[in-house]
Amino acid sequence: MVTEEELANMSPEQIQELQKQNCIFCHIVSGRVASKKIYEDDKVLAILDINPLNPGHMLLLTKEHYQIMPQIPDDIIAHIFMVAKKLSHACLRALNAEGTNVFIANGAPAGQKASHFMVHIIPRMKADKLTTFDLSEKKVSEDALEQMRIPLKNKVNDLFGIKEKEPFFVDKRDKESQKKVYVEKEKLENKPAEKRQEKNNKELNLDNISSFLIKNEPRK
Ligand SMILES: [Zn+2]
Repeated sequence: MVTEEELANMSPEQIQELQKQNCIFCHIVSGRVASKKIYEDDKVLAILDINPLNPGHMLLLTKEHYQIMPQIPDDIIAHIFMVAKKLSHACLRALNAEGTNVFIANGAPAGQKASHFMVHIIPRMKADKLTTFDLSEKKVSEDALEQMRIPLKNKVNDLFGIKEKEPFFVDKRDKESQKKVYVEKEKLENKPAEKRQEKNNKELNLDNISSFLIKNEPRK
């Protein structure tokens, strides 16, 4: 086991290598661990989950070791969803499933158990009583919706390179704290591009690499 200190001194390439060595799904991709293959090409591998939520539950893996979605190049993610569509269609036709869930656990708080990115394709039947997805709706105020909509929209614009930006909504009941969020966001947005990039890279390393390796053992 690698200590936190050793990890802190490793280069991103060394960390990546270590992750691959410890990743059961990388071993499945390389063929060192046997699997029930459904589909394979140069970018992805689809296998049956040996602990399925429903019979026919498939795992669509990237051949490269990525942990979470933001790390995956756009052309690969496009390819992944093209394959996911066909796998989902096959569930309906070959297994007589009445529906499918196409599901990504992106990060540990979302239920991600393995450090290797994957898409779950889960055949569904009306009567299957699968309770994995709690889809109970929450009541939220118009203000709360706006407070989600504006930062999301601004960030998405930013990711697409669209210049348009809406100011943050200021809640009348809590002006001071809202203002603070707004001002801090502004400060960040006004930093030169390289600085922002540097911050983004740092965030990615912190959330995804060291914390993942220490806390999450590879899924058995
Ligand atoms: Zn892996």
